[in-house]
Amino acid sequence: MSDWLIPLSDLDYGPEELAAVQRVVESKWLSMGPEVAKFEAEFAEFLQAPFAVATSSATAALHLSLVSAGIGPGDEVIQPALNFVAAANMTLAAGAVPVFADIVSLAEPTIDPESVARLIGPRTKAVIGMHYGGHPCRLDQLRELSAQHQLLLIEDACHAVGARYSHASNQDPHNEAVGQMTGTVGDISAFSFFSNKNLATGEGGMLVTGNAEFAELARRLRSHGMTSLTWDRHRGHASSYDVVNNGYNYRLDELHAALGRVQLAKLSANNERRCRLLARYHERFSTLTGWIVPFVESSLETSAHLMVAVAPTPEIRGQVVEGLRAARIQTSMHYPSIASFSAFQSCRADALRNSDDFASRAISLPIFPTMTSEQVDEVCEVLRACAS
Ligand SMILES: *Cc1c(COP(=O)(O)O)cnc(C)c1O
Repeated sequence: MSDWLIPLSDLDYGPEELAAVQRVVESKWLSMGPEVAKFEAEFAEFLQAPFAVATSSATAALHLSLVSAGIGPGDEVIQPALNFVAAANMTLAAGAVPVFADIVSLAEPTIDPESVARLIGPRTKAVIGMHYGGHPCRLDQLRELSAQHQLLLIEDACHAVGARYSHASNQDPHNEAVGQMTGTVGDISAFSFFSNKNLATGEGGMLVTGNAEFAELARRLRSHGMTSLTWDRHRGHASSYDVVNNGYNYRLDELHAALGRVQLAKLSANNERRCRLLARYHERFSTLTGWIVPFVESSLETSAHLMVAVAPTPEIRGQVVEGLRAARIQTSMHYPSIASFSAFQSCRADALRNSDDFASRAISLPIFPTMTSEQVDEVCEVLRACAS
């Protein structure tokens, strides 16, 4: 609940979500049961991915990605400075060290493969790409670099559930090759189902991989490193267990999985609605001078998680944030550079000119599936009035 006239994001929740929760409550089975198993199977099917492992959050999935792939002490993981802090925190939690790369440009705020190449050293073991706002990062080039230097490629796909990456589309916008879903191009990837994401369950995440060994290890580490699960024992499939790894409790519960299944069924239609709203914003911004709208010319298929614009100056960004707040329109900023945080001062980084510039001028505007195009116009009118 909020008193924003137009919030930054809003849930598309209705009677289906209520019925799903009721079904689980009535079943009296709350964790590690059939809803989680079905959610994993349906999510894997949706992505055309071999393995999906549900987790309590994307942060947990990122941690499991690194640990399951054997990233640990002495290793460096190159990742964008312009990201939510979870990937960097989990790199440290795995015992490894994050190294921060710059973004391509203000118009393409995803990790710059040339910056990655400059940072690769003898300790580099993995690269994390993040699909900013739901727009695929340059996976082709990252994959090439990873193959060349034998690095693991991890996708932080938290913004990008339902986005698609077409391999040749960066070079050829008319390429009609069927693209792979984001989260299935790298070796291992993480999705988030936090309340404000495209597929929202409150808390929740998913690790996706094509590697059977990573999947098996992640599944075991998710639940204390134990060899058999409560559900299997309940069904009489196992009576005892061994602990073969030092694991965690990163399980998703049945209530969240049931919500996830309903939200997954709505996802494609909701992503289409987001794309139409994004197109409307782009149209309105085309008559504003001095603003940069990221990915406006991209031919890649986005999940339109965010609507972000880069103001001509930090001062104008500040003016617009204040003006929109006064009109009860909520905004946000994705993200401050991680390299600027106190806890990451000792980490190695490339020159982060674009990331710092972006962080000082970017503003995130409302976008959510139940938003109307009239609301987009309203946001843009207030913005236009206070931008000059
Ligand atoms: C939301 C988000 C996360 C963290 O997801 P949780 O499910 O809240 O742990 C990590 N990375 C990015 C890019 C995100 O947007």
